[in-house]
Amino acid sequence: MNTLEDIYRSSVSFAKGLGVTFKNLLRKPVTLQYPDERPVLPAGFRGIPALLTEKTTGKARCTACGICARTCPLGIIHIDSVLGPDKKRILNDYTLEAGRCMVCNLCVEACPFDSLVMAKDYELADYDPDRLVFHKDKLLQLGQPYEHGDPFYVEPAPKVAAAEAKPAGEAKPSTGGEGE
Ligand code: SF4
Ligand code: SF4
Repeated sequence: MNTLEDIYRSSVSFAKGLGVTFKNLLRKPVTLQYPDERPVLPAGFRGIPALLTEKTTGKARCTACGICARTCPLGIIHIDSVLGPDKKRILNDYTLEAGRCMVCNLCVEACPFDSLVMAKDYELADYDPDRLVFHKDKLLQLGQPYEHGDPFYVEPAPKVAAAEAKPAGEAKPSTGGEGE
């Protein structure tokens, strides 16, 4: 009796397992052929803090107030500034130790002048940690696509069709960023 019961249970279990297998056989694959194919990044995706440019002056919006540097829990933002003749701070350099950033977004939230944005760049890995120390020019460059200042900006869909039209190895990335 026990043997028959065991056979019955094993058969049911086997059939259930096969059911899961066949169900997934019919599903569309979710795997992307990275890096030729890129994911559409969701709204609010955090890559790395970047500086925004003031449209009217073409310079960094940052006023060198230092609030972001004081807010960062890791102390990885460094502001280099001088006092101008009108007693306003002039930003010389803005340094971010990007390799240590935990993308918490606190610096962006703390900035009273909307000078920072979380850029969506996620391909910044480097073997040399020194190359992950980004200065003002690099951070302004990373902030260029986000001049609208919308933190919920949604990345345009990657042009997969165009990438597929090219021979393998020539496909150009459509999202993400570049390391230095
Ligand atoms: S995102 Fe967080 S850890 Fe990174 S620089 Fe801003 S406050 Fe610091
Ligand atoms: S809080 Fe904003 S304005 Fe002040 S130093 Fe940081 S980025 Fe510049």
